[in-house]
Amino acid sequence: MNIISILILSAAQLFNFWGANGHRVVAQICEWHLSDSAKEEITNIMGTELLAEVTNWPDYVKSEREWKFADSWHYTTVHPDQTVEDMQRIYARDSSINDATEAISLMKDILKGDAAATAYFDNIIDRNRARRLNNSTKATALAYLVHIVGDIHQPMHVGKNRDLGGNKIEVMFFNDRYNIHSVWDTRIIEHERLSYTEFATFINKTTPEMVADLQDDPMEEWARESIELREDIYNTLYDYTDRESGLPSLSWRYQHDNIVVVEKRLLEAGIRLAGILNEIYED
Ligand SMILES: [Zn+2]
Repeated sequence: MNIISILILSAAQLFNFWGANGHRVVAQICEWHLSDSAKEEITNIMGTELLAEVTNWPDYVKSEREWKFADSWHYTTVHPDQTVEDMQRIYARDSSINDATEAISLMKDILKGDAAATAYFDNIIDRNRARRLNNSTKATALAYLVHIVGDIHQPMHVGKNRDLGGNKIEVMFFNDRYNIHSVWDTRIIEHERLSYTEFATFINKTTPEMVADLQDDPMEEWARESIELREDIYNTLYDYTDRESGLPSLSWRYQHDNIVVVEKRLLEAGIRLAGILNEIYED
C-alpha cells in the first residue's frame, strides 16, 4: 500500500462506518445465529472466507472512484421532523439506490435470486467499471448486506445531514480531538481493547425469545431506534462541555454510560442480520 492510499484510507475512516472491529463483531454474532442451510449457502458464495473478513470490504472500496456511487448506501438521512417512511417515500421516487434501507432491500433480493435485482446491480457495477468482491455479484451483495445492516444500527448513521451525521461536531475523547461520529463508529469500541471475537463473545448473551423478537422487527424499526439513540447523543453532548476548550470532553463517564448502548446495537445488528439470511436460505 503506498502513502497516498494510506492517506485516502484514513480520510475514509473519518466518515460513515462502525470501525472495522464493530463490523466484525456484527458479522461474528451473525455467524453464531445462522441456520445450517444458511451457513451452507453462504459457504457456496464465499468459500472459506468468514463474514467477519468480508464485512469491511464495502468500506475499503470507498476509496475507489469506481465505487463512489455506493457512498450513500452506508447511511440514511432522517431529519428530526420526518419519519423513516417519509424519507423512504422520497427515495422511492427515482429508480436509483439512495440510502441504506434501499440498499438492504436490493441486496436481499439479489441473494434471493431475483433476476431483475441482479441485473440492476450488475448494470451499475459495469457502468461504473467497479470491481466485484471475488468477481462475484452475489459475494458483493452479501458483503454489502452484512456491512449495511451493521451501519444502520450505528445511531449516527441515521443522521441529520446538516452536520453529516455528526462528522462536523468536534469533541474531545480521552484528551484527543475527534468528531462525535467517529467516537460512535470506532472510539468507544476501541477503548475496550478487545479483539472482535472477544467482544462478540462477551456480548452474545441471548434467549430464544429475544432472538425471535429482534428478528421480527422490520428495518424501519432499526432506523427508528437509531434515531432515538441519536437524539440522546445530541441531547446529552453538552452535559460534558469542558470550560476551557468549550468542546464536549468525553472520557470515563461517557465511555461507561455508552459502551452498553454500543454493545446492544452490535448484538441487535448481528442477530437481525442472521434473521435475514436464515429467511433467505430457508430450506
Ligand atoms: Zn459503512
